[in-house]
Amino acid sequence: MRTFDYTRADNVDAVLRVNPSPETKFVAGGTTLIDLMKLNVETPSRLVDINPLPLTNIEKTSDGALRIGAMVRNSDLAHDAQVQQQYAVLSQALLSGASPQLRNMATTGGNLLQRTRCYYFRDTAYPCNKRKPGSGCPAIGGFNRIHAILGGSEDCIATNPSDMAVAMMALEATVHIRGATGERSVPLIEFYFVPGSTPNRETVVGPGDLITYVTLPPLPNGARSYYLKRRDRSSYEFALASAAVVAVVQGGRMQHVRVAMGGVGTKPWRSKEAEQALEGRQASDANFRAAADAALRDAKPQRYNGFKVELAKRTLTRALQTLTQNA
Ligand SMILES: Cc1cc2nc3c(=O)[nH]c(=O)nc-3n(C[C@H](O)[C@H](O)[C@H](O)COP(=O)(O)OP(=O)(O)OC[C@H]3O[C@@H](n4cnc5c(N)ncnc54)[C@H](O)[C@@H]3O)c2cc1C
Ligand code: SF4
Repeated sequence: MRTFDYTRADNVDAVLRVNPSPETKFVAGGTTLIDLMKLNVETPSRLVDINPLPLTNIEKTSDGALRIGAMVRNSDLAHDAQVQQQYAVLSQALLSGASPQLRNMATTGGNLLQRTRCYYFRDTAYPCNKRKPGSGCPAIGGFNRIHAILGGSEDCIATNPSDMAVAMMALEATVHIRGATGERSVPLIEFYFVPGSTPNRETVVGPGDLITYVTLPPLPNGARSYYLKRRDRSSYEFALASAAVVAVVQGGRMQHVRVAMGGVGTKPWRSKEAEQALEGRQASDANFRAAADAALRDAKPQRYNGFKVELAKRTLTRALQTLTQNA
């Protein structure tokens, strides 16, 4: 690991006074950043520890939304009573991720910005367009079992690994950011970029930008939600395919359907195709399977990850079956 300067910031204004630079990184739980510094993948010259920031509350806003501070730990968010009762999909997604110890450290802001688990990205012996633009992508044509089948490009097929972000995508979250140019609110669906020819640019967050909150809009009365994750072992493992589903089921028909998928996309993948295939339709296995086919219609598997197409379809179908059981 290289040497770096370290400071602690105890208020947001102090963070915003830090000179914005790609060389400066904020450290929250550190469960992504410190790992990558040990591997020499991340090499900041300055770390600003944001743990003292007063961004640890989960509270209702006057318009009925839930406002989650960027420093709320994944465990606290998963076990919050309002989240468990009103946004069960988020609690389930969080509890399916990592381990209890990691969830006790990991934060809401850090989780949104966690980096890919692509083996080549994490090993500096290999070239990687995400680490060093123009150097090449050994995953394309290499071992790509865990890689993306949706949203990839000729330059990068890395999967976004977050479970939390998939649930938040289905919940239509908004991310609130403060930076040198002031405050802005970005719907999560616009927060992540697909890699295209610039896989090094992953999100709208630029140097010096601080995520302060995430808000979740209220769900309609009677809405149900559910998260299902498929992986190589039943705990402490990233998704090969996952599905976050939200819907109101009335008289056997589905309304307000929201679908997002994990483990398959270069970003947490909202599937409007699946939503359109389900909206106003009967909750039936045939319609669930048709929605899953629609969600994966544009899938482009690589040599070793073709199994993900059917796995993702079955995961979404099963998630919808569970969501609508006894409705
Ligand atoms: C062994 C292991 C298994 C895991 N398994 C899973 C899993 O199954 N599912 C899953 O979803 N995740 C998993 N994770 C990832 C884990 O959830 C993330 O590492 C964690 O959520 C990151 O949060 P953090 O607070 O530790 O981020 P940090 O490491 O502190 O930061 C990550 C990045 O975000 C930036 N950052 C942090 N907070 C802010 C902010 N407020 N504003 C602007 N920038 C910010 C940092 O500068 C850094 O670039 C696993 C991790 C490990 C090590
Ligand atoms: S898939 Fe993306 S992250 Fe992985 S090696 Fe290729 S460019 Fe790098």
